[in-house]
Amino acid sequence: MNPIKIKTLTDEDVLLEEDRILELEEKLRGELINPRDDRYNEVRTIWNAMIEQGPALIIRCAGDSDVMEAVKFAREYDLLIAVRGGGHSIAGASLCEGGLMIDLSMMRSVHVDPKAQTVRVEGGATGGDLDHETQAFGLAVPFGVVSTTGVGGLTLGGGFGRLSRKYGLAADNLLSVDLVTAEGERITASAEEHSDLFWGIRGGGGNFGITTSFEFKLHKVGPQVLFGPIIYSLKDAPEVLRNYRDFAMKAPNECSVWADILTAPPLPILPEEYHGTKVLFVAPFYIGDPEKGKELIKPLREFGNPLADGVDVMPYAMSQRAVDALYTKGMRNYWKSHNFVELGDEVLDTIVNYGERLPTPQSDILISHLGGAINEKDPEDTAYPHRDIEFVVTPGGRWMDPEQDSAPVKWVRECHHAMKDQATGRSYVNFIAEGKGREQEAFGPNYDRLVELKNKYDPTDFFLHNRSITPTK
Ligand SMILES: Cc1cc2nc3c(=O)[nH]c(=O)nc-3n(C[C@H](O)[C@H](O)[C@H](O)COP(=O)(O)OP(=O)(O)OC[C@H]3O[C@@H](n4cnc5c(N)ncnc54)[C@H](O)[C@@H]3O)c2cc1C
Repeated sequence: MNPIKIKTLTDEDVLLEEDRILELEEKLRGELINPRDDRYNEVRTIWNAMIEQGPALIIRCAGDSDVMEAVKFAREYDLLIAVRGGGHSIAGASLCEGGLMIDLSMMRSVHVDPKAQTVRVEGGATGGDLDHETQAFGLAVPFGVVSTTGVGGLTLGGGFGRLSRKYGLAADNLLSVDLVTAEGERITASAEEHSDLFWGIRGGGGNFGITTSFEFKLHKVGPQVLFGPIIYSLKDAPEVLRNYRDFAMKAPNECSVWADILTAPPLPILPEEYHGTKVLFVAPFYIGDPEKGKELIKPLREFGNPLADGVDVMPYAMSQRAVDALYTKGMRNYWKSHNFVELGDEVLDTIVNYGERLPTPQSDILISHLGGAINEKDPEDTAYPHRDIEFVVTPGGRWMDPEQDSAPVKWVRECHHAMKDQATGRSYVNFIAEGKGREQEAFGPNYDRLVELKNKYDPTDFFLHNRSITPTK
């Protein structure tokens, strides 16, 4: 094996000689992958194809011991590292150029304790892994709306989905985590142990360590829920969105309704003439008695002239996979989001206006319906600070061809800018596409406390390749 040139945190190159690499390999239960390996490209590739960096070395960890070994090895040479969970970071925070990628994606075990109603999930598991195991017992943790997203990044940033109005963020349901520190030691953080750290990892991202496992409390969900899209022509969107907004603001916490302007996929429920046209999806989700749910959502279903109505009773796990096909890996992506306490008519008109000009057939404008139990906590209770908002609006540019980068990026920026006066001025950390520089916007009143925590747990900024909180020591 030839020596490997690898980058340090200070952007210098060090040469790793063969015997040192073999020595590392022997200490691992997982795999060591370098750019000469056949599987290198497959392993290093993350969800957003805009991010095309090449780590010099990848450690595919098989367990906590490998993670500790990886951190100690990186510390020895002061290496630039990136930590990969599910690989869904829009900003590409799980990839680095020329450094070491600590890849958790083989660490996907999920163990449910149905008696205690808790689940322990390894740091590289996806939402689909989690739902698969927990739903076997009719239980669930609030998670995002695409099943291929990683539990790691999503939870550490907060993590919301259709269950969050009832049960809060994914992070709100954490009981403890096992975490490998910047010193390569494994510690537990919970309300009792390292409680300052436990506060910080619930919204502060991977800034303080590598979480090898998450312990969540579980809730009875489904297994059947009411879910599906009511699909409208975009020309009806101004009135439909106003009705949607009014309904969503009054909905009970068992119900959440996300809406999306997109180019219609060829769904069997939608007459063929509308395939490929711009449409508005209004997608109610209800976790109580489905018959009660049907009664509740009548004002949505009976409004205007839907082109199709796909609302149905289905397994919760199926509802969680329902939009996966719209968000496949390997496309180029650029997103920017705003938080809203309310959606005034002006914002709705802006959404429709930019929806009429979607820059590519895969782009969309998503309205996430939050509030409810998320807002029962105070902004300072956990590092996730956005406890007053009801909606997040995200124009998402998606396309294939690198030659086409400029149009969707411009469209996202303009749409985002057009909504800014009605928004709160803060954004969800996990929806920020830029690598650095918007930390105040993401962490708001909690930023200073997060810097203190960074000074304590990672004063040398080893976990730099994140939505990084910069230490001041
Ligand atoms: C298609 C899609 C749909 C999404 N839907 C939602 C949604 O419904 N709700 C929502 O809240 N968010 C959603 N998100 C945003 C998502 O929460 C973030 O992209 C999140 O960072 C993804 O986590 P990951 O582990 O997959 O990503 P990665 O790219 O692997 O990691 C993201 C960041 O977290 C760090 N990290 C990951 N795992 C660990 C770990 N175990 N320990 C320490 N650090 C870790 C990484 O180093 C990196 O900084 C979505 C994203 C995508 C692409």
